[in-house]
Amino acid sequence: MTLALSADRPEDIRKAGEILRGGGLVAIPTETVYGLAAAVFDPAAVARVFAAKGRPADNPLIVHVAEIVDIPKVCAQAPPIAPALAKRFWPGPLTLVMPRRDNVPDGVTAGLPTVAVRCPANDAARAVIRAAGVPLAAPSANRAGFPSPTTAAHVWNDMDGRVDAILDGGPCRWGVESTILDLTGPVPRLLRPGGVTRAQLEAVLGTVEVDPAVTGPVTEGHSPRAPGMKYRHYAPHAPIYLLHGPLNAAATYVKALARPGTAVLCFNGEQERFRPVPCVPYGDGDSPESLARGLFEALRKLDAPEIRCIYARCPEGDGLYEAVRNRLSRAAGFAVIEV
Ligand code: AMP
Ligand code: MG
Repeated sequence: MTLALSADRPEDIRKAGEILRGGGLVAIPTETVYGLAAAVFDPAAVARVFAAKGRPADNPLIVHVAEIVDIPKVCAQAPPIAPALAKRFWPGPLTLVMPRRDNVPDGVTAGLPTVAVRCPANDAARAVIRAAGVPLAAPSANRAGFPSPTTAAHVWNDMDGRVDAILDGGPCRWGVESTILDLTGPVPRLLRPGGVTRAQLEAVLGTVEVDPAVTGPVTEGHSPRAPGMKYRHYAPHAPIYLLHGPLNAAATYVKALARPGTAVLCFNGEQERFRPVPCVPYGDGDSPESLARGLFEALRKLDAPEIRCIYARCPEGDGLYEAVRNRLSRAAGFAVIEV
């Protein structure tokens, strides 16, 4: 049985901490997406996270700490730039990949010599970490391969009966997962774009390399620095094709090809243009924040048995648009149609 907890009730935060200390799993809100948390130093609890999600064992988890000063609990030797980055962007949607400490179970890091760490900006998330008394290993609280959950209802849909409790903290502020930055190489490398943008990182670091897995498919035999990037992800059952080009051309193209089961993931206000093809709008085309917040819920709506082919409007531009484009591109397996 999965217990329903509310982030508004202090006794529920305490209860979440108690469950985690006892080796249980609790889904918690963060400012990015909902996470599926386990006490980081408990290998059995960590193994249950993989089982509950159906997550491949070679895809490591992100460790969540309540304070910057907790970094040394899981990280052997923070690179010299880490404190400056943490000071500038924590608490917030930036995950740092650093050398791991030996006490971090292999399950958390998938056997890598590194560990991914972040301090979330959500008050309830940090309150639960404090109540648990240890850092929490927490991937997104969805079934593996599916869109990340941005509301407690999404978590219930995926995880009812598979986790001990779900803490409802309302919809997530960002709606896409954290930016991941690898600090273990000679030059900091962006492994996944998110709420902290490339330009913000460059302002602190000067140069940032972008991992090829961010913008293109992972080719056979190549193992990406963030193992998660090699899986199809964020995806409804039906194939997705990204439409590249102006709205007019996109609408003409889709209407010419539409069959029963065709649907469009569009920007707000565009439904009329694609008529009679059914549309799911995900946000304002000129607001990357709005697109990021709405993307995963829209992808969940499109994960319906009657939908067999999805065409998606995908934003151009940098900043948070990059994170939206990255998630959509992965959901589409980088299938792009020039219209
Ligand atoms: P999720 O929390 O579900 O967004 O998944 C965590 C993401 O962080 C996955 O893409 C992992 O591959 C990535 N990750 C976790 N630990 C590491 C690490 N030590 N090095 C590189 N990527 C990592
Ligand atoms: Mg995930």
